[in-house]
Amino acid sequence: MNLDRADERRMMVQTQILSRGVKNKRVLRAMEMVPRHFFVPEEFAGVAYHDHPIPIGHDQTISQPYIVARMTELLAPEEGDIILEIGTGSGYQAAVLSAMGARVISLERIVELVDGALSNLQKAGVGNVSVFVSDGTLGWENMAPYDGIIITAATPAVPSILIEQLAVNGRIVAPVGPQHMQVLVRLTRSTEGIRREEYDGVRFVPLIGRNSWNS
Ligand code: SAM
Repeated sequence: MNLDRADERRMMVQTQILSRGVKNKRVLRAMEMVPRHFFVPEEFAGVAYHDHPIPIGHDQTISQPYIVARMTELLAPEEGDIILEIGTGSGYQAAVLSAMGARVISLERIVELVDGALSNLQKAGVGNVSVFVSDGTLGWENMAPYDGIIITAATPAVPSILIEQLAVNGRIVAPVGPQHMQVLVRLTRSTEGIRREEYDGVRFVPLIGRNSWNS
């Protein structure tokens, strides 16, 4: 992986992520490793490590670094886990999961963003990520069941087909709620059923597809 701008990443982790309570060392290490500046449009490269989301075109965004770290901590991917991401965007979240040793399947509905994400991942030297143009609200049956599913767009409810594609002990992390404001929800499957936990308030762009918002 390209290690340019390592000082900025260390600073980002100290001042935006650790300071807000993310403690998982593997998450912090991944956030220190992945060159976020390769995942933003060139004109935003100077602010790639700042504490806010950044536009990536097509009315979409790469999330704020803290939110990526927080969702990754809630997902808690282990080395070798198979993770499904819905909403590839820039490819940055997928790169963070890959840096933690996960095998990532990432789905994106906008073909131009898939092209961009594949090029970003290649530039950053990230492997173990497969990206497909697809409506993620339908899941991705081929590689199911998943150890983790992360939805990086807002949905009124977690589509039940995604819950069906989750392994026992698997976790789904998603921003759930109306379009203007959501909460981070984690669903954990056990042999007894599904446990639901709610965390921080967040604001994401909408998940648009057959099993979420229609447009
Ligand atoms: N995870 C991304 C990253 O690291 O850059 C940021 C994701 S951005 C906040 C949300 C993404 O979800 C957008 O790229 C959007 O096109 C995508 N999206 C929305 N609905 C989708 C769907 N049904 N299936 C797949 N992707 C979807």
